[in-house]
Amino acid sequence: MTEIHSSAHSAALQTGNNHGRTTVPLLGVDIDALDTAGLCRKIVDFASLGSTRSVMYVNADCMLIALRNEEYRQALNNADLVYADGVGVVYGAKLWGHTLPGRSTAADFMPDFCQSFADSGLRVFFLGAKPGVARAAADGLMADIPGLMIVGTHHGYFTAGETEQVIAEINGARPDVVVIGFGAPAQELWIRDHGGQLNASVLWGVGGLFDFLSGQTPRGPQWLLDHGFEWLCRLTAEPKRLWRRYLLGNTKFVLTLLWHRYVLRE
Ligand code: UDP
Repeated sequence: MTEIHSSAHSAALQTGNNHGRTTVPLLGVDIDALDTAGLCRKIVDFASLGSTRSVMYVNADCMLIALRNEEYRQALNNADLVYADGVGVVYGAKLWGHTLPGRSTAADFMPDFCQSFADSGLRVFFLGAKPGVARAAADGLMADIPGLMIVGTHHGYFTAGETEQVIAEINGARPDVVVIGFGAPAQELWIRDHGGQLNASVLWGVGGLFDFLSGQTPRGPQWLLDHGFEWLCRLTAEPKRLWRRYLLGNTKFVLTLLWHRYVLRE
């Protein structure tokens, strides 16, 4: 389990606003009805504003965690933007007659999106994953995208006692956007607890993104990814770690949706 500690902090981030948002409720979480292009525009817009904004994602696994973990659910609902990262969430919303334009998965759009960071002159920091992984992801992107400023990286296996030092390192690099990949719910609770100490405009949780960008974890054939089978690719890549999440979790998610929709009639 994670070594990242998320004890309440006096500078805890209290963002969360609904200005101009169109959201869809699903199992107690408000999800932004945005396509990938809209999401990217919004993040670049956030980066140009003075205050700190938080961006989070949800998939089937996240929704199940949010149902049993109120702190995580609140962190999601206090975020400035929550996007659908899994097709299960998009189909789940349909059961209530709500439309989400589709899923946005950072591993798909991040390379293109980094072009927008470069064009806008935004400074980016990668925080998370095992030592060396975020650095490899950053180096690969900067080799492909001239002008991209990934101004620092740090792994995600630091202790509570090292947190202040990591925050000082991030602030010292003066990023506009901090991309945080600790997995859910650790990254969302960390943003809640420490976001207020970071002098950046956007704090964005991305899960295992750096593992994919660095090539550490293979993603699988695009046609499987495009047809709702990302979970199968991830399960094949890391069966020991992920069988419970996907084989039990996906079934549980479908049953939970049906229960809430047709038995509880929420
Ligand atoms: N991770 C981390 N610190 C920890 C535990 C995990 O930085 O203490 C990283 C891990 O190396 C991986 C990511 O968090 O890169 C979790 O990836 P996962 O695919 O599980 O995320 P999710 O599916 O929740 O988006």
